Amino acid sequence: MIDIKTLTIKSAHEDMKSGKYSAVDLAKSYLEEINKKNKEINAYLEVFSDVIEQAKQADERFKAGTATLLTGIPFAIKDNILIKGRIASSASKILENYHASYDATVIEKLKKEGVVFLGRTNMDEFAMGGSTENSAYGVTKNPYDIERVAGGSSGGSAASIAMDGALAGLGSDTGGSIRQPASFCGLVGLKPSYGHISRYGVMAMGSSLDQIGPFAKTVTDAEIIFNSIKGTDIKDSTTIKEDTYVLKTNKKKIGIPRHFLNGDGINKDIMKNFEESLEKFRKLGYEIVDVELPNIAYSLPVYYVIMPAEVSSNLSRFDGVRFGLHKDGKDGIEDYFESRGAGFGKEVRRRVLLGTYVLSSGYYDAYYNRANALRKVITDDFLHAFEKVDIILTPTTPAPAFKIGEKISDPVAMYLEDIFTVTANLTGMPAISIPSGYSEVSGKKLPLGLQMTATHGNENILFDIGKEFLGEK
Ligand code: GLN
Repeated sequence: MIDIKTLTIKSAHEDMKSGKYSAVDLAKSYLEEINKKNKEINAYLEVFSDVIEQAKQADERFKAGTATLLTGIPFAIKDNILIKGRIASSASKILENYHASYDATVIEKLKKEGVVFLGRTNMDEFAMGGSTENSAYGVTKNPYDIERVAGGSSGGSAASIAMDGALAGLGSDTGGSIRQPASFCGLVGLKPSYGHISRYGVMAMGSSLDQIGPFAKTVTDAEIIFNSIKGTDIKDSTTIKEDTYVLKTNKKKIGIPRHFLNGDGINKDIMKNFEESLEKFRKLGYEIVDVELPNIAYSLPVYYVIMPAEVSSNLSRFDGVRFGLHKDGKDGIEDYFESRGAGFGKEVRRRVLLGTYVLSSGYYDAYYNRANALRKVITDDFLHAFEKVDIILTPTTPAPAFKIGEKISDPVAMYLEDIFTVTANLTGMPAISIPSGYSEVSGKKLPLGLQMTATHGNENILFDIGKEFLGEK
């Protein structure tokens, strides 16, 4: 029996290397757990039929001495990341039967390491949402409390790990879709710096915001995954050479935007946990100082103009001809309306409409251009704050996991969930969510998360401080 509850990438690697168990044994343990729990949790849209085959190949590498840290590690992959020959639906009806014709660069990299792909995970349709309730294939439930959401949009990847149905996973993060579900499911989730990981082969949502990133149980594991998938890619011209960050010897300063945390929209348990976390940081020798981010309150409205603008443009490729679902109308234009009308869910249509509106002539200057200008101002505020601190710390979310159905009919309430996370996407800065404790609600323990943001290229400091906080070193 493998105790998969306490397993990490590091410990599983050591175990397989020393022959304690094989990659096939490990894969079988995870498949067993998935069989027991996925029906209820709905983390996976599909569990692959060749998992054992993949694991056998991983075992060959251990025998040949060519195994790396990730060889044989069972991964869950968000359904908007292409794996050649397999379905990639983005949890949308429009791509229900779409088979990827090539590997995303991150998948190609993980394949080289001999990772075992367990399956593709549920998400909000085309990554739009914060609860997976916008999936065309049903909601993913939170393994900590099945009446609650696992978060979104990468809720399936997070829940798969939290239910012990995977050891690690990949998600995408356009406005918080890795960090928020990580926080709701007691995991580590990283949104890397813009340009650090190739998005080739990930379905585009908001191209100036999207990043792929890891889910893991520890910061050390998230770092291992990040290091294996990062890097420039000739197939994604937005990738840039990684900045080499040298840790400052006086690295001990954490900035808190107090003025942004005083509103009454933040749950009491979240603030209590936040204050306790600050105390823990103080004990570890960190200095906590206030920072001013004068325009941070505009982040959410700015995001909800720029993101739909990019969504409306990116999703125009789904025309009923090139990919997926096709419905016949009277003529070409009608085909287009019919196919998109039948294939897209409500939230996707809402954002396409909103995006088309803010980009339309007469409104472009008033909305899209203004939002872009503000985006620059917000980024400058952060850069200014980072002149005196190493990281900026906030809660990851304003409240713990909410109930299924609680916010779905009120889009604005759902959008408010993203209040702390969208800034890292707008500024392009790296941000990580780490588990910081629990809130006890009606007898259930709901995980809480802390978000640390650093300046562009400084994932290392996030790993460093995260490990120290969680006692991983
Ligand atoms: N919840 C946010 C939204 O609905 C973030 C989505 C994401 O990061 N993909 O846009």
